[in-house]
Amino acid sequence: MVKTKEVTKKVTRKIHGIYCDDCGKRIHWDLQCSTTRCEYCKADLCEKCVAQEDYADGDYRIVYCAKCWDIVKPIKEKIIALEDEIDRLEKECIAKCGKRKKYVAVLVADKE
Ligand SMILES: [Zn+2]
Ligand SMILES: [Zn+2]
Repeated sequence: MVKTKEVTKKVTRKIHGIYCDDCGKRIHWDLQCSTTRCEYCKADLCEKCVAQEDYADGDYRIVYCAKCWDIVKPIKEKIIALEDEIDRLEKECIAKCGKRKKYVAVLVADKE
């Protein structure tokens, strides 16, 4: 006798993927340059959990998670202020020293 039985099978598939360390959502990175990994704590982040992105002209993105950005933001502001101060001091040296001569490019020809 031939009988047709209906069987319901439970299938468990293993999906390997990258998941956001902040919200647990799956992340799709097409290329290495689309990687969103926190600059400091190296957490993998989805677009939604990227708290801050710095301009980068290289082939990878500079992003920060919310936790690190909270810590880093005031420190970065201090760094920028110090860089401005270095600029100012460098200009002060130039202004105070003055110039004895205008810069002249000198070509020294090889003798013989
Ligand atoms: Zn997320
Ligand atoms: Zn982080």
